[in-house]
Amino acid sequence: MRIILSTALVATALLGCGRPAHQPLDGAALEANDGREWLTYGRTYDEQRFSPLTDINAASIGRLGLAWSAEFKADRGQEATPLVHDGVLYTTTAWSQVYALDARTGAQLWHYDPKPPGSTGLRACCDVVNRGVALWNDRLFFGALDGRLIALNTKTGAPIWSVQTTDPARSYTITGAPRVVKGNVIIGNAGAEFGVRGYVSAYSADAGRLVWRFYTTPNPDGQPDGAASDDVLAEKAAQTWFDGVWRQTGGGGTVWDAIVYDSKSELLFVGVGNGTPWNHKFRSGGRGDNLFLASIVALRPETGEYVWHYQTTPGESWDYTATQPIMIADIMLDGQRRRVVMQAPKNGFFYVLDAATGHLISADKFAPVDWATHVDLTTGRPVESGSARYENGAVVWHSPAPGGAHNWQPMAFNPNEELVYIPVSVAPGRYSDAEGYRVLSAAWNTGIVRIVPLPTASGAPSVPEPPSERLNQLVAWAPTAKAPRWTVDLGARRGGGVLATAAGLVFQAANDQLIAYDAATGKQVWSHGTGGLVRAAPITYAIGDEQYIAVMVGYVAEGSIQARYPGRLLAFKLGGIQKVPPYPPRPAPAPLDLNVIEPSAGDAQAGALVYRDYCAVCHEGARGSLPNLTRSPMIAARASFEAVVFAGALALTGMASFRDHLSDAQADNLRAYLLWRARSEATPAAAATEDR
Ligand code: CA
Repeated sequence: MRIILSTALVATALLGCGRPAHQPLDGAALEANDGREWLTYGRTYDEQRFSPLTDINAASIGRLGLAWSAEFKADRGQEATPLVHDGVLYTTTAWSQVYALDARTGAQLWHYDPKPPGSTGLRACCDVVNRGVALWNDRLFFGALDGRLIALNTKTGAPIWSVQTTDPARSYTITGAPRVVKGNVIIGNAGAEFGVRGYVSAYSADAGRLVWRFYTTPNPDGQPDGAASDDVLAEKAAQTWFDGVWRQTGGGGTVWDAIVYDSKSELLFVGVGNGTPWNHKFRSGGRGDNLFLASIVALRPETGEYVWHYQTTPGESWDYTATQPIMIADIMLDGQRRRVVMQAPKNGFFYVLDAATGHLISADKFAPVDWATHVDLTTGRPVESGSARYENGAVVWHSPAPGGAHNWQPMAFNPNEELVYIPVSVAPGRYSDAEGYRVLSAAWNTGIVRIVPLPTASGAPSVPEPPSERLNQLVAWAPTAKAPRWTVDLGARRGGGVLATAAGLVFQAANDQLIAYDAATGKQVWSHGTGGLVRAAPITYAIGDEQYIAVMVGYVAEGSIQARYPGRLLAFKLGGIQKVPPYPPRPAPAPLDLNVIEPSAGDAQAGALVYRDYCAVCHEGARGSLPNLTRSPMIAARASFEAVVFAGALALTGMASFRDHLSDAQADNLRAYLLWRARSEATPAAAATEDR
């Protein structure tokens, strides 16, 4: 058996059966290769996640089984796209740990733990995840949760250089993968829920020297930064910001995911996130487009010089980031082959832009969207629906919710079908103005009312239900027809990132099943259990004459909760006969005994607001696996509660001390509230109402 390559690459394959092991891993290799290795986040610079490997195909896929699995030290979310080079698979786990594994057997070659302080977990909006590494020659680069960019030796895992890319005094994190372009390592950061000023930086691969930095929002003090962004911020962005708390928060606009290079136009495209706070009224007086929030910005990779931008959501007010994955492709449009940038950001429109100029070619809804009726192709701006804005007192439900119609889960492209496969998960979100909002440290800054149950009026309505259900789909979007060609409805299962291959297959996990579909029709042709929930994208590579499919596995579904077990990587091949190892049974945690509770003198009503502002978003929101505080034995006594909340007893696991953020009275009130919740949830008459 040998690896069959798509026709376009047969010539390359005949010449040398892949690159010799010692050929430099440089821009040429990242631009195009025979698919036997997976060398950068989206496989090649264009980030189509389309592999020319065809050994695993419709005829052979019945024999696809598990070749090996590897288990990591870190539990929690696993979002990385592994890379493969010279027979070694490199991946990252939660808490920014790096693993090098034998890509044929899964045997561990080395492991590097940058040990970000556990307290940085507090700053990670959506879990302590990491989406992967970058390779360049004999070096590997990755971002640590605490804002360091670190270079390692690929053979040994030994550190070569490390640079702090962020101000440790502010709530920056790094979860995204770096990219390397022309010897520059490009890295962004995250933290726009907490209050930071977004930027993207380039460091020299050889020495970790800062080459350029581009800020995505104006400097709140009105001064130039001495950065690549100075001129364009003064010329285009400054006049789009007005009086508001952006001057305290930095405005947001973090570049936390998409950083994509196009070798044809020689431009670097970065996707920019939401504003801080989300609410445009508090951020900027409800005025102005607030450039470059929610935009795709094209830069010169050598200098960071601005070339063009396209803003998807002017005056962003819904957490509609545009940092979702970007891909470059050549597609036929009106009889012409055009080189385009494509993105399906949170706001629910699929954008096609000319890569060289940023000219908007099309923008069409790929999911239920009701915040805007359409995008005006003449002005390039969305036409908001009449009820889009909530900043003047309205309570509105809009699709998409802040999680978006599509988030970080990578999409893939099949150039033969001219289809983009989009992981869609969309539900309505409730937006209403948080009158009296003030900037909070160590908490999300949205300026939107968050609903928590309140200890008043028993029998009052519970937390409001959304007007419609969440929709989970794999959508095969035809950018030329501006419509889906086929859609797979995943029901209650959430889909992960996507891989497409020249064999006409599309791989995507739905919860704990890895599934292969026919690229042209969406017909399911194969599936295999993964033992845990998969949100990451699969990759494919070849070692010797065998093709592999590999994917990261994160949480484990236990009933209705996501349980934390060590993360894993599963690798499949034809004829693989291994079984996914069962997770060892664990004793159930000791339940909270309501009969042995030390009463709290605090005020549960006031504690509800503390809970809403500081606890709810992680413990019942964006990080679904964190403990339910209303069931935690920790709340039973003041001493155990203070050990965790003030003394930082669990800081190593990410639960940092709130000593600097909460007073003694607030902590007492919070415990009183949690005790009320614990009691009311133990009886069926739990009361709840809107908090304000
Ligand atoms: Ca956000």
